[in-house]
Amino acid sequence: MPIRNTGNIWDHVDALADEAIALSDSVWAVPELCYDEHQSCALHTRMLTDHGFVLTPQVAGISTAVMGESGKDGPVIAFLGEYDALPGLAAAPGAFDHIPTIENGHGCGHNLLGAASLLAAVAVRDWLAVMQLPGRVRYYGCPAEEGGAGKGFMVRGGAFKGVDAAISWHPSPFCGVLPPSSLANVRMDFTFTGRSAHAAAAPHLGRSALDAIELMSVGVNYLREHMLPTSRIHYAYINAGGAAPNVVQAETTVRYSVRAEDLSELLALAERVRQVAQGAALMSGTQVQSIVTGGVANLLPCPPWKK
Ligand SMILES: [Zn+2]
Repeated sequence: MPIRNTGNIWDHVDALADEAIALSDSVWAVPELCYDEHQSCALHTRMLTDHGFVLTPQVAGISTAVMGESGKDGPVIAFLGEYDALPGLAAAPGAFDHIPTIENGHGCGHNLLGAASLLAAVAVRDWLAVMQLPGRVRYYGCPAEEGGAGKGFMVRGGAFKGVDAAISWHPSPFCGVLPPSSLANVRMDFTFTGRSAHAAAAPHLGRSALDAIELMSVGVNYLREHMLPTSRIHYAYINAGGAAPNVVQAETTVRYSVRAEDLSELLALAERVRQVAQGAALMSGTQVQSIVTGGVANLLPCPPWKK
């Protein structure tokens, strides 16, 4: 239905409300983890097509990334949407309590994130047209926000070339403009290799990889006092070596996530964590190997109050 030209962008937003809510509900119903958001990407792509956006599928070679553009001339205004779910964070619709489950779900609301960004893109495009103002609007369907650094690969692939402004948001319990910041972060897996032995019959022959990850945790926890209070270190045991206490565990893996305000601080802190891992290997008589599984720089925002 054509919208009466009142110059009020909220008319365009309201006109799209039912469609955007239906999109959000559909994405909620098919929670898909990072880089596996095929149905969710298809649902957003369909709405882009329905509103006449020119599609660029598989942005930067990523099968679940999509970009749609509409409008004439410049500037180019980008709206960023996300639609990946979280592992083990399903909840019943309308419920406020977390329901422990192993199912995936939109625990932090990316069903809303993709749909509302797309609503904004269509509304701004329609408003520009009605107001006869120049400008192109792009919607970027960005995969893998939850640990997969999807936008990093899209930037590297040149997906944002020509964009004058990029607008993003995240669902919250309140509505407002936050001082935008995000810490630079890196994820590293440390795998310790020791030597298995019977823990009662021949413990002197064993070299415990379980001891090694515990020593690493102790070392890192002592390190916390001597790092910037703005930095963060988290860890999770990916492989604790096994379930039998009478076996000296021969291989373990612990995943570390290190965060800091900027890249130079991050790289220095990550190196200190690596050295703690070396120390733990030395103390336990094991070997350690580390691999970086992901990393992103801190957000460089352009808030409205910063000229
Ligand atoms: Zn989120």
